Amino acid sequence: MEKIPVGLSNRHVHLCKQDLEKLFGKDYELKVLRNLRQPGQFAAEEKVEIINRGCLSARIVGPIRSHTQVEILSSDQDILGLKAPTRISGNIEDTPGIRIKGPKGVIKIKKGVIIAEKHLHLSEEESRVLNLKTGSKVKLQHPNGTEFEVQVRTGKDHLSEFHLDKDEANSLGIKNGNTVRITRK
Ligand SMILES: [Zn+2]
Repeated sequence: MEKIPVGLSNRHVHLCKQDLEKLFGKDYELKVLRNLRQPGQFAAEEKVEIINRGCLSARIVGPIRSHTQVEILSSDQDILGLKAPTRISGNIEDTPGIRIKGPKGVIKIKKGVIIAEKHLHLSEEESRVLNLKTGSKVKLQHPNGTEFEVQVRTGKDHLSEFHLDKDEANSLGIKNGNTVRITRK
């Protein structure tokens, strides 16, 4: 198996169309700052404020999604004054809400704040070769010896990439552009 690039994620926000319009105005279109490795995904130029007891600036990751979701870092919890569970993206039942402020308005979401659980993206072909599907568990190893057991996410809009948040990467000495390999399924 070839080496899998590590993609570090910082705090960010995914917005549904309705919430995007409340924050930025009707028919607003996000501007692409940088395309991400996952096809169709991009870091937008736009940022919002996420507000609870404290507040933080968070970049929007596009395109728009069916549900608004706020992915924070573990170290953000004290600043915001909330506890967020570690979840795979999209699994937002029983998660805290938060206020989000954009240039045209403020919204309050009832749920959707998570700490992103680390995960491995694989293309359809790679997952077929490895006989893995979405939800399968694999072991990964970084050259510094760190091992991870993570869930696989695969589908037609996926390419191989290990997603890990900045806080965890920093604590382990792992940097953007590093690679990992699958050691065991
Ligand atoms: Zn991901």
